[in-house]
Amino acid sequence: MLALDQFSIQSLFSDEKNLFVPDISKTVWDDLEYFGWIHPDGKSGFIVLESPNHGRLKGVKLQRQKNRRVKSRSEMCSWCHFVHKSNGTAFFSVEVKGSDGRRNLGNLICKDLDCSSRIRKPKYSDSLMQEIIYEPARIWRMKLAMHRWLRRANSI
Ligand SMILES: [Zn+2]
Repeated sequence: MLALDQFSIQSLFSDEKNLFVPDISKTVWDDLEYFGWIHPDGKSGFIVLESPNHGRLKGVKLQRQKNRRVKSRSEMCSWCHFVHKSNGTAFFSVEVKGSDGRRNLGNLICKDLDCSSRIRKPKYSDSLMQEIIYEPARIWRMKLAMHRWLRRANSI
């Protein structure tokens, strides 16, 4: 994706008071399909991506809940299909726009919103499930999954 700066990120979340934006000085933007981060309180996450409809940047706020499973077991991220050994995913939900907060959509996603690094090698080799499809196909599949989910939430 194209490089972002603090100002452009803040302008996408103008409704947020005291928006936390992480240090982006070392971010390698070419290796990202979306830019995601978690608020220090751990309860909300933010993603910035290019809209597949018009190519402009979109900012989406997500609510994050810890996975409440008692036993640890492997979990797959529904966006990047990375299979974590345990505690690698979290439950994220997005409010359906236009529903006045009455409807939310949930999804199990990498808990730190760092899918882009995970579908690339060498980090990908840590996945419990090794796939034979190559990197561009994994990227394409991830974008499709993200776009579908956000479209259902009228957020893209
Ligand atoms: Zn992921």
